Amino acid sequence: MNTRFFTIGPSKLFPTVSGHMSRALKDNIPSVSHRGSEFHNIFSQTTSALRRFLSIPDAHRIFFLSSATEGMERIVQNCVEKKSLHLVNGAFAKKFWQTSVAYGKDAIRHDVAAISDLSPSVSEDIEMIAITQNETSTGMVIPTEASHALKRANPHALLAVDTVSTTPYAPLDYSLVDCAFFSVQKGFGLPAGLGVLIISDSALAKAAALTDAKGSVGWYHSFAELKKYAAKNETPETPNVLAIYLLGKVLADMEQVGIRAIRKGIEERADMLSRFVDEHPERLSFFQKDPALRSQTTIVLEVAGSSRPLMDKLRAHGLIVGAGYGEYKDHHIRIANFPAHTTEDMTALITGLSDVLL
Ligand SMILES: *Cc1c(COP(=O)(O)O)cnc(C)c1O
Repeated sequence: MNTRFFTIGPSKLFPTVSGHMSRALKDNIPSVSHRGSEFHNIFSQTTSALRRFLSIPDAHRIFFLSSATEGMERIVQNCVEKKSLHLVNGAFAKKFWQTSVAYGKDAIRHDVAAISDLSPSVSEDIEMIAITQNETSTGMVIPTEASHALKRANPHALLAVDTVSTTPYAPLDYSLVDCAFFSVQKGFGLPAGLGVLIISDSALAKAAALTDAKGSVGWYHSFAELKKYAAKNETPETPNVLAIYLLGKVLADMEQVGIRAIRKGIEERADMLSRFVDEHPERLSFFQKDPALRSQTTIVLEVAGSSRPLMDKLRAHGLIVGAGYGEYKDHHIRIANFPAHTTEDMTALITGLSDVLL
């Protein structure tokens, strides 16, 4: 039986990954030096592909980290001296806020439950506004226009965006974003173990000013070190070369498919699932009641009764869905709808859900 992964991350691999992995092994990619020209080419191909595919401005820098969680910590270290503001719509946004608290910052938590919560007042002393564009724990999305509006209304603050479970689906105007970060095991359909951080000149300047004022903003993955090495198409440490290589290859494949087709596919599959859920209100419902805040890429459903038996029955059909996050573990299921997924996957899931629910 075919096993289909709808888990939120790691999730289904992008279909071309296994071919690229075989090729990488044949070409000895895991053995090449991270200070040599072969790696320089890999670094440059992957960063160029990211720049093209996500329309990242030339002036923004692209760095590699170990994870998205690391991104939160590096951003707090390098961009906040005293005060940050965090729009909290779930567990990952809360983690970003807690990171700032852990570093002793005056980190203000602004909970988001409705559209009307998306334009908080931002005092002049707020250095950074942090948002989680797609909150994977709750399936709540912050509409892209709201993120853009936040930066336009508060140009004095750096805008940091966690794009982990929505990129490359959600269009983001990177000219309005100072720090964006994601890991590759969600929307890019790759094995976990690589983070990407995209930062503006203003974020770099802030890190430099903080270093001057405080002496240190961390060391090996400070923005200054990352920048110094990226200028040579390198990373400060021995990186996950294979993961950087695979990301470049998958980006090239996604470019072939085209971002428009990828977005259209995600929306069509989300609509298929949405119709099914709406037809069975006694069994399933969306955790996010407001469709404007409802994620297309990580769909969180409330299950009447416990979600465990449903998950087990789906598993017996070869359909692996995610459990609810944290306190919702036994009440929700979470369904990933990433570029790697197909109409056929969604049809199989809906058929499986009908079989076990009805
Ligand atoms: C998964 C996830 C993270 C954490 O990613 P790691 O790769 O585990 O560090 C952060 N933010 C969001 C929104 C996520 O979905």
